[in-house]
Amino acid sequence: MQVLKFGGSSVANAENINKAVAIIKNKKSVTKTVVVVSALGGITDLLLKTAALAEANDESYKIILKEIEDKHLGAAQELIPVQQQSSVLSLVKKICNEVEDICNGIFLLRELSARTKDRIVSYGELLSSQIIAAKLNAAGLAAEWKDAREIIVTDSNYGMAVVDFSATNKKASTFFGASAASLFIIPGFIAADKNNITTTLGRGGSDYTAAILAAALDASVLEIWTDVSGMMTADPRLVTNVKHIPQISYQEAMELSHFGAKVIYPPTIQPVMKKGIPVWIKNTFAPEESGTVIMNEATATGTSIQGISSINHIVLLSLEGSGMVGIPGFSKDCLKHWRTHPSM
Ligand code: ASP
Repeated sequence: MQVLKFGGSSVANAENINKAVAIIKNKKSVTKTVVVVSALGGITDLLLKTAALAEANDESYKIILKEIEDKHLGAAQELIPVQQQSSVLSLVKKICNEVEDICNGIFLLRELSARTKDRIVSYGELLSSQIIAAKLNAAGLAAEWKDAREIIVTDSNYGMAVVDFSATNKKASTFFGASAASLFIIPGFIAADKNNITTTLGRGGSDYTAAILAAALDASVLEIWTDVSGMMTADPRLVTNVKHIPQISYQEAMELSHFGAKVIYPPTIQPVMKKGIPVWIKNTFAPEESGTVIMNEATATGTSIQGISSINHIVLLSLEGSGMVGIPGFSKDCLKHWRTHPSM
């Protein structure tokens, strides 16, 4: 079993989806394959914008909804031969109508809860995964689409739900064990709580979905397909003479990602590290480039530092004073106060 994940830029439009499909086609014959996909690049932000406009009672949310619908219809039309288009086009229309109904509700009530926000953003991955599944099937690669909400179980902490690994692992092995398919397409980022209410795993969470499934299924490898050829010794936008890191340990990758390296969503490492599953970071736009492998050992580079990451817009608050002695939660309250009165 292998798990491949394609991020937003890898599936941003029909041209990029075709590149992802070529990679899947190439890999598929090797073993059973689970493909996890993000929403088309930029769609999650557009869905959040739509919901925020509706909450602000601004009717222009309808314009953005139309933009979202057109983007998906256009991609489906470009990817799938005309004779096979009708079912995927009506599915896209149906999903977009559902988003519109929810936004109309938000507009009327002027209210947007974290739970509803999760529901709204879930449509990004639902749309992309259904279109890609249809494309694979049209290309003769029999692919079974499965809703991640029927496998990944979380608590009800909307926006950043915590995974219930024992329930999830059971559901994953039952489903994948029973299915005769050899290629699966799963929407990343989304999950469901015990009451089947949609939740999400945090922004960038599709990497995490892929890692959760890889660990649950004891996959031999997890490949994260993105728009860069692996991890670098520093942020190439800030530093000119960066070097490519061919191999890095789980601990180092976890540290770099926690402290600003954008290439992988930080919680991703934990589940695969526990099982010792190697994670490859590969470039959808340059698949021939070697990428970076994250595994138990780093390459012996002769230096103790593999890379340097950085985080922008950080403020260090130093609190002191006798008033805080013995008062639990003091620093949290200070932070809350500072957020609402940043000039203090
Ligand atoms: N679509 C989600 C986001 O933009 C999740 C992901 O792409 O990993 O945050």
